[in-house]
Amino acid sequence: MTDAQSAHLAATASTAYQSALEVIAAVEPRIAEATRKELADQRSSLKLIASENYASPATLLTMGTWLSDKYAEGTVGHRFYAACQNVDTVESLAAEHARELFGAPYAYVQPHSGIDANLVAFWSILAHRVEMPALEKYGVKGVNDLSEADWESLRAEFGGQRLLGMALDAGGHLTHGFRPNISGKMFHQQQYGTDPVTGLLDYDVVAAKAREFKPLVLVAGYSAYPRRVNFAKMREIADEVGATLMVDMAHFAGLVAGKVFTGDENPVPFAHITTTTTHKSLRGPRGGMVLAQEEFAADVDRGCPMVLGGPLSHVMAAKAVALAEARQPSFQTYAQNIADNAKSLAEGFLTRDATLVTGGTDNHIVLLDVASYGLTGRQAESALLDAGVVTNRNSVPNDPNGAWYTTGVRLGTPALTTRGFGHDEFDKVAEMIVDVLSNTTPGTNKAGAPSKATYNLADGVAEKVKSQSAEMLDKHPLYPGLEL
Ligand code: PLP
Repeated sequence: MTDAQSAHLAATASTAYQSALEVIAAVEPRIAEATRKELADQRSSLKLIASENYASPATLLTMGTWLSDKYAEGTVGHRFYAACQNVDTVESLAAEHARELFGAPYAYVQPHSGIDANLVAFWSILAHRVEMPALEKYGVKGVNDLSEADWESLRAEFGGQRLLGMALDAGGHLTHGFRPNISGKMFHQQQYGTDPVTGLLDYDVVAAKAREFKPLVLVAGYSAYPRRVNFAKMREIADEVGATLMVDMAHFAGLVAGKVFTGDENPVPFAHITTTTTHKSLRGPRGGMVLAQEEFAADVDRGCPMVLGGPLSHVMAAKAVALAEARQPSFQTYAQNIADNAKSLAEGFLTRDATLVTGGTDNHIVLLDVASYGLTGRQAESALLDAGVVTNRNSVPNDPNGAWYTTGVRLGTPALTTRGFGHDEFDKVAEMIVDVLSNTTPGTNKAGAPSKATYNLADGVAEKVKSQSAEMLDKHPLYPGLEL
């Protein structure tokens, strides 16, 4: 696209948003105001939350239409509602873009979020893999043909299935078998961690656990592991023990789409089922998606109404737009920049003597261990927020402060890379974060006892860091040309 075309589209989007906010303000001005303020806040802060991004105006605008008004339970050409011809077009296009982009035999674009995509995957695996002898005694062909009475007795048998996933404090997600999540209740679960010295995944340990536990589902993928995973090895482990390999690429889908993760690091050819969100590094609308090998397609297709409500047609439309964007060559440059910038950020910390889990990164995540500053993750997160740096606290392996206070701060590069930040800016970001944390001390509670939540940030530091980030943010405006 030429500069003139970009400027024209930005001006058109400005008019669209100004008009939309005027229409909204006529009904509920406080919502229009909060929406404007959110843009101002995002424009003026350093967004380093690894799971967030800035979707394009085209993607965002696609969500604000009457496609939202349509019910379309079922699948393309097989709906439980009438007059779904346009939703069929939308869903088919989104699925086609997903299949082409990821080289997947089958794509299901209905899940409303990443958690929903994982639920669809778990259900499909159970439906597909429940042993036939167990079903034969009910006189049915598959799990979807069971009567209410069959269900009653089968629930106990489903309870006997096993899932092996990455531990939460090693970087896994709560949907990978963590007890408080349904995944930890549907399945007997065990977890694999990371090496206590290197912080890296040890495939021999995963294989040994799998051999002993014999899971039905082996889950790979993560929310806070700053390294790449060898999915060919994970598939070998799954095959050896007869498990279904499910990869949750919610965090790094953009790096797969942008061909930064190729060969053994691309999960799609190796996993039986791959799930993802669409709003993180993939830079689409908030939502989820399931990619599957042909063998699982029919079971995944039953996601709605088995575990999902009616599809969000306006969001599926926005998925189609974002996936079309991700198929452009410029997305590959973006994805490579995400990974290069994460390296710059990590090097920026290491040269300033900070401690990083695994000693660095080779994806989009940097996990900073803040124990060396004498802080908890919660104190560090709050002090950074005072200085306009938006991060989130995160457990480190075997975290002494637990999952609420934590000892880590997770940082990610997808959002600021979208704004155009490069090597020098990320080095400066590391300097600013170290400045804040070195000038923060733990506080006390009302009774004067040490607290894991309160903190004292030295005078003047927040203001200094805010003005340094304002200088960088001004050079890389969010939604350039969008006048709001
Ligand atoms: N899977 C992984 C690996 C995630 O990191 C997340 C979100 O943080 C999810 C699933 C859930 O996504 P959502 O919040 O869209 O349900």
